[in-house]
Amino acid sequence: MNEYNREQSEAIQMVHNHIKGLLLRERTRLKARIARYLRFRKAADEFLGRYFSEVCTYTCYQSQMSACCTREGITTFFADVVINVLMSSDKEIDGLLQVLSLPNPGTKCVYLGKKGCLWSIKPVVCEMFLCEHARKTVFGNDHSVFEEWEKLKLREKRYTWPDRPVLFDELEAYFIKMGYSSSLMYFHNSPGLLRVKALAGKKSK
Ligand code: SF4
Repeated sequence: MNEYNREQSEAIQMVHNHIKGLLLRERTRLKARIARYLRFRKAADEFLGRYFSEVCTYTCYQSQMSACCTREGITTFFADVVINVLMSSDKEIDGLLQVLSLPNPGTKCVYLGKKGCLWSIKPVVCEMFLCEHARKTVFGNDHSVFEEWEKLKLREKRYTWPDRPVLFDELEAYFIKMGYSSSLMYFHNSPGLLRVKALAGKKSK
């Protein structure tokens, strides 16, 4: 197993085991904590379905021009893992662990299955990625669509940009408090994100 797969696998198992051991009321509390974020993700999905599904279907699946999901080692935040585990069945988690245990030839993302991404709630970096071709095709035709996208990007920052208390930082902090550690905890380890927190006058936890 390569380093990337090992880190991913460890984080998924750690979160899955912890969540499985929680009392129902604590699991419900965690789900309530991510409810607003899930509403944002639904809005992003609807936007992408409305404006990008045609260009992406042609670009990715018919002409195979696109680089979507063909990168090995996509960035996943620890909170992405937590949110996905909370919203996945045991079978779906087993599916992720299974692909991570196989050798990856490195030509595409390890999580890309025959029917698309294997995550229930895919990493936010993937959700908010638009290739240049898709951007030009859709935004070039209608500036109001671009403005709608910019609003979604601002909403994303409310969960992921730690110049204020944000969900992605809080979910890491919750697991750290429980005694866990993972190399995916970028909000507590990445110099760039720590700088954003420090500049915003916050102490890293
Ligand atoms: S959307 Fe899924 S398959 Fe595509 S790069 Fe992201 S994690 Fe991988």
